[in-house]
Amino acid sequence: MTSSHPDQLDPSTAVVALGRPERTPGAALNPPVVLTSTFVGAGEPAPGERVYARYSNPTWEPLEAAIGALESSPVPGLAYASGMAAVSAAFSLVPIGGVAVIPRTAYNGTASLARELAADGALSLREVDSADTAAVIGALEGADLIWLESPSNPLLDVADLPAIRPAAQAAGVTVVVDNTFSTPLRQRPLEVGADVVVHSATKFIAGHSDVLMGLVVVKNQALRDALARRRTLAGSVPGAFDAWLALRGLRTMALRLDRAEASAGELARRLSEEPALSRVRYPGLPSDPHHHRAAAQMSGFGAIISVELAGGQGAAQAFVDSLELFTAATSLGGVESLAERRQRHPGEPAQVPQELVRLSIGIEHVEDLWADLQRGLRGAAASQG
Ligand SMILES: *Cc1c(COP(=O)(O)O)cnc(C)c1O
Repeated sequence: MTSSHPDQLDPSTAVVALGRPERTPGAALNPPVVLTSTFVGAGEPAPGERVYARYSNPTWEPLEAAIGALESSPVPGLAYASGMAAVSAAFSLVPIGGVAVIPRTAYNGTASLARELAADGALSLREVDSADTAAVIGALEGADLIWLESPSNPLLDVADLPAIRPAAQAAGVTVVVDNTFSTPLRQRPLEVGADVVVHSATKFIAGHSDVLMGLVVVKNQALRDALARRRTLAGSVPGAFDAWLALRGLRTMALRLDRAEASAGELARRLSEEPALSRVRYPGLPSDPHHHRAAAQMSGFGAIISVELAGGQGAAQAFVDSLELFTAATSLGGVESLAERRQRHPGEPAQVPQELVRLSIGIEHVEDLWADLQRGLRGAAASQG
């Protein structure tokens, strides 16, 4: 597999160039999808010989090589059946009876998993406001793992990654960053001292709302080997075709993200002038409370905006229901724009207001998106009448 000196390539080139087969005459340009559950074997398997597709599949490897290099790791990443399988794998790094620190407003699935593990007695949990750096640092003593999600889903809180790292290192705490919202094109947590990066590749990496996929990236081979062994035993492996789709999606991630992010910045600016919205959260807005922190540690602000309707929950639901181009659906990071009132989900953190609508900006034309958002605002206004 060629890696084409990833250190010297711009990341927008790397997403295209990484994870290609050897260039030999007559070889396929793209890695093939290998659909098999088992591999032919006679006698003792030689070291590295493939045996069974739960242990390894050649279709995972180009994707794993690509994400490892994009996240600046010297070792390949690991692909999982979903983002939550990757999240679970990262939580398995907490020893039984250990202590995990999580953001009070972590992604619903992550927070629910951590709380269930705590209720079962597998670990104890300290929940903090991840944007409050002093509170985060104060919770580290005696902890085994700190989970950060930055920007967070859906409140778009930004944690001060460079400030938290030295304190975590001094306290011997493993730092995990869920980098789903930023992607390695906007933020590379391993470069500022994180130990583990987790992705829901279902979102921006695969990018077409047609596949579930998780990725984990760590810095050292021994930890990677341990996680790979556990993945084999847990069976949390991705399907070959899904891994192939995720790599195919990755090829265009830089283009998709550039476009979606440019639109998100413009739409957030226009939305911030709408009196029907009591709040617009987007780290790229100069008025955003976390703008300076985001600008210091991210090379772009992503494509997710959260808005709060001044008219409350009913207005927020009417806003979503009036959209015609945006689809009312959960998830994010695909080519098509989506809108969702997050509190429709049971278990959503109480800190997420009832009137909050999360917008995932896709790659449609920005003026079509703006016209639709205005339609949504008219619907919200009509519901108040
Ligand atoms: C969606 C999401 C996950 C979970 O990923 P799945 O692929 O749905 O299992 C984890 N973290 C964040 C930030 C997400 O947005």
